[in-house]
Amino acid sequence: MSLYTPKELDYINSEFERMLAVYMQSNPNGNEDVVRRAYAFALDAHNGMRRRSGEPYIFHPISVAMIVANEIGLGATSISCALLHDVVEDTQHTSEEIEALFGKKIASIVSGLTKLKGATTFQEKSLQAENFKKLLLTMSEDIRVILIKIADRLHNMRTLESMPARKQYRIAAETLYIYAPLAHRLGLFNIKQELEDLAFRYEQPEAYLSIFNTLEEAHTKRDELFNRFSEPIKTKLNSLGIEFEIKHRLKSVYSIYRKMQEKNVTIDSIFDITATRIIFEPQPNIAEKTQCWNIYSAITDIYRPRPDRLRDWVSTPKANGYEALHSTVMGPDGLWFEVQIRSRRMDEIAEKGYAAHWKYKSDTDANAKENELERWLKRLREFLDNPQADAIEFLDDFKTNLFATEIMVFTPKGEMKTMPTGSTILDLAYEIHTHLGTHCIGGKVNHKTVGLSYKLQSGDQVEILTSTKQQPREEWLDFVVTARAKAKLKDAFRDVRRTVIKAGELILQDTLTKLNLTDNSPTMKTLLAHFKIQKREELLFLIGKEKIDMAEINHLFIQSKPDRTLSQRLFSAFARSDKKVQPNKKPGITPGNREAIVISDDTSVFSFKVAACCNPIPGDPVIAYFDEQDQLILHHRKCDQAIELLATYGNRTTDAIWTSHKINAYVGTIKIDGLDRVGMLNDISAAISGTEKVNMRSVHIETDNGSFTGTISLSVFDTGALNGIIKKLLAVKGIQSVARIGHNNGSTL
Ligand code: MN
Repeated sequence: MSLYTPKELDYINSEFERMLAVYMQSNPNGNEDVVRRAYAFALDAHNGMRRRSGEPYIFHPISVAMIVANEIGLGATSISCALLHDVVEDTQHTSEEIEALFGKKIASIVSGLTKLKGATTFQEKSLQAENFKKLLLTMSEDIRVILIKIADRLHNMRTLESMPARKQYRIAAETLYIYAPLAHRLGLFNIKQELEDLAFRYEQPEAYLSIFNTLEEAHTKRDELFNRFSEPIKTKLNSLGIEFEIKHRLKSVYSIYRKMQEKNVTIDSIFDITATRIIFEPQPNIAEKTQCWNIYSAITDIYRPRPDRLRDWVSTPKANGYEALHSTVMGPDGLWFEVQIRSRRMDEIAEKGYAAHWKYKSDTDANAKENELERWLKRLREFLDNPQADAIEFLDDFKTNLFATEIMVFTPKGEMKTMPTGSTILDLAYEIHTHLGTHCIGGKVNHKTVGLSYKLQSGDQVEILTSTKQQPREEWLDFVVTARAKAKLKDAFRDVRRTVIKAGELILQDTLTKLNLTDNSPTMKTLLAHFKIQKREELLFLIGKEKIDMAEINHLFIQSKPDRTLSQRLFSAFARSDKKVQPNKKPGITPGNREAIVISDDTSVFSFKVAACCNPIPGDPVIAYFDEQDQLILHHRKCDQAIELLATYGNRTTDAIWTSHKINAYVGTIKIDGLDRVGMLNDISAAISGTEKVNMRSVHIETDNGSFTGTISLSVFDTGALNGIIKKLLAVKGIQSVARIGHNNGSTL
């Protein structure tokens, strides 16, 4: 008996049939039966459930199935799993039932998509990271798990508006941090772009809207320009008898934003905000590569190319399988146009990524190209073989190892090895053979002797130097980057570790005896909770290493039971109020109505630190993060670190409102550029010292051939004061730009 109205049920069924039709159209002999059975089961299991927005829950799995079928191009098994993906998590049904009804394969994929259960308590390291690790474990067995998860995330991002405001940031950050790079790595370019744009829209609504609106305004002008640019190309390619399609595409809002940040420029200075794409139907018996270059040649007969912008991913495809020939040419009015040349096959791979690769697997030469992805998966499996790493460490390693761009180095025999960027001599040694790693004492790079921690560069020719006397050392863990080297090192330390743990156990017992305690489970629980350590062994190890002060343990048990910490009180308050949050009319675009803690001058309410990576000042949009010691740290919302924290420690972060301060001053750093002239420095300092309540802390100016750049650190009370100074400086004759920067990294805020 359906708990939905007949009208709703009609709509549900028609959405399902629409999805099924998309699948059947490209797979006329597909397994319709299993998809229908999965649908019937899911519909019944979610009967009566509704999403936050009020619509029947089943629309979500159907939409995910649609993305899986239409945008990723997967088959009946994946579509069925997409339909069933929330059944085990959200209903009474079990994995065993799924297995009995749909078989082992579907059951194992669905279980990979089911989140770990468990309350998010404060002691817990990070449930987000644990869940992600589980996802990857299942993915290494069947990549469809991650593809469906990406589809699930995409639909959640598309419907993020109905989520409570506080969760929007967390989900958006996690999407930027993990899911978009993952989609990219699997070659799902369109999905990656959409994920980034959606996440960006919720992360930084103002910045998003400003770019979006600028692009909208220039819409008609761009179309006209494209027509003028493409007409001669069309004529020429037609005369050559080439069958093709030409279109222009706006780059994503997020990629334009990144470019503005990287180059520290405004949107007007970014010329290549569109890309022209030529997709040709390959002629038989001529290599696609040759046909790409023929089209390139035809275009450059008309427009002059910019030699430094030629990218040949036809001869050497990107690691994620992308193939195309990119060139930038000068079009009408002296404007630069990026042109991407692809065959129909290359285009499909670019649009659908991984799934499209399998479709072309029968091509003999496609097999060789697939190895890149295979290799990546192999590395992932290796990486998951390391059971020691905790989830957060794992996530870190995963980011550096599997999303890193790669470098290629050569052995003395000319053999090529691909390594993640940042790899050292020692990483390479372990990559080649464990024995080489264990006994490595350094290397020769391009015939020059270097140390173990030397960072390899692409193109280096490397020889590993060993000595039988060498033994692995703990400090090696500080610089190796590959998961393989880390795992091998940890293996080697395990024996040593056992001895340290034993010593730690004796020290602890000794201390506890003096306190009239034993190391029974309540005592251990208290200790682990206090030091925020998960395993008993880890605690004993740290004690054995003398990394833990025994006085602190004494103190812990002598002291009366401590009150709940500030953050615990704060977050339990949030947990209660969360349920009462009403969906906003237009959430994500209206910051300010989110729940947030308010930071004021009164430090007895909140004592806090300002993060050194971004140095926010009062008035900045900030997030609050409670670290392991329960210390409140404020990060600028635009800080990369903040995004990482939201993505991995979402339960320890929250919005904060930092109002203008009148008691404490903070450091704001600005960068200025301009033309050098006599008296410039004087005028700059006059502008600053003439402003009340602003003090100059340091100045650093460099001149070069008549122009200068400078960095000035100021002590100010809030953003208002800093913006005032920026305005004042901009009025100084000869100064061309003044921008606030983050403290350490120099990135623009
Ligand atoms: Mn879902």
